[in-house]
Amino acid sequence: MTALRSLKTIDDLEEAGLVAAARRVGLDDVAARYAVAVTPAMAALIDPSDPDDPIARQFVPDAAELVRLPEEREDPIGDGAHSPVEGIVHRYPDRVLLKAVHVCPVYCRFCFRREMVGPQGLGTLASQAMDNAFAYIADHPEIWEVILTGGDPLVLSPRRLASIMERLAGIDHVKIVRFHTRVPVVEPDRVDAALIAALKASGKTTYLALHANHPRELTADARAACARLVDSGIVMVSQSVLLKGVNDDADTLAALMRAFVENRIKPYYLHHPDLAPGTSHFRLTIEEGQALVASLRGRVSGLCQPAYILDIPGGHGKTAISAATIEDNGGGCYTVSDFNGETHAYPPASGRHPE
Ligand code: SF4
Repeated sequence: MTALRSLKTIDDLEEAGLVAAARRVGLDDVAARYAVAVTPAMAALIDPSDPDDPIARQFVPDAAELVRLPEEREDPIGDGAHSPVEGIVHRYPDRVLLKAVHVCPVYCRFCFRREMVGPQGLGTLASQAMDNAFAYIADHPEIWEVILTGGDPLVLSPRRLASIMERLAGIDHVKIVRFHTRVPVVEPDRVDAALIAALKASGKTTYLALHANHPRELTADARAACARLVDSGIVMVSQSVLLKGVNDDADTLAALMRAFVENRIKPYYLHHPDLAPGTSHFRLTIEEGQALVASLRGRVSGLCQPAYILDIPGGHGKTAISAATIEDNGGGCYTVSDFNGETHAYPPASGRHPE
C-alpha cells in the first residue's frame, strides 16, 4: 500500500503493513519516548516481507530502543558544552552550527540528536533567539562557515530559508553556508524552484550535505532532486552513518558511495554511530568499521572514499579513525600498506641514503 502522508504513529505503521500486530510489543513505549515519522517516499521503499529491510531498520521503531546502556548519552556529541547562545554551537574556530529547527521529515532510529528533535523537541528558534544567533555570528569575524542543521533545515518554508540567507548575506566574513539535510531523498518533491532559490544568496557559496545510508535511498525521484540542486550551482557532499544491519557490508557501502558520485555528490563523512540512547543495536565496533572502510580502498575509485569519522563524546569534535596505513620505523623509514594489505618499505631499500 502506498502511503499518501507521513506515518507518525505505530497505528499508522501497522495500518500501512510496516509493523506486524504480533511485533507491536514495546513499540508504543518507544513512540512515546522518541519521535516517529516515515515519509511516503521512504514507506514505499520498504519491503514489508523482509524482516531485515535496511530502510525499515532506519525508520520503523524497534523495541531494542528501550535498552539504554550506561555509556550512552542524551547529548552524545556535546553540543551543549559549546553553545554560547541558543541555537548556535561554536566548536571549531572557523565555523558554527545554526540549529534553526528541531523538526525532521523522518525520524531516524539512530539519531544522535534524538533527545532534541521531534514534536516534543526544541521546536523552531523563536525570533529573539534567532536575532541573538545572528548577532553572535556577526560579532565573530573568525566565522567563515555557517552550517544549518537541527533538525532538518529544509523543512522550513522557502520564505523562512530566504530570510535566513538574506541575513547571512549581510555578514561579510561568512563565505560558506552549508545545509545538512535528508529532504532530497526522503521528500524529493519538496526540492522545487522556490526552495532552491531560497538556499542561495549573493556573495555566499552554498553547500548541501545529503544524509543517506543505503543505495536504495537514491531513487529516481531523489536523483532528480539532487540534479536540480547541483544544476543550480549548489555543491553537494554526502554524509552517512555506518549502521549495523543497514550498510555494514562492503558491497552496500561501495554501491552507496558510487551512487553519490554518479549523482555529482562527493562522499564526505562516514560517521561511526554516536552513543545516542537506545541505539546500541546499530553500533558495530571501530575495528569492524575500519575493516569495511579499508575494503573500499582500491576496490572503488578515489572519488568514492569518505572519511571515517568519530565524534568524540563530550564535545571534543570529530577525529578520523580509519586504520593507519603507515608505520614510522624511525630514521626516515616507514612501512606502508597497500590496498591489498601487503606491506612495503618506504623509501624502498635500494633508494635509501647511506646512514
Ligand atoms: S534527519 Fe538527522 S536530525 Fe533528523 S532524525 Fe535523522 S539523523 Fe536526526
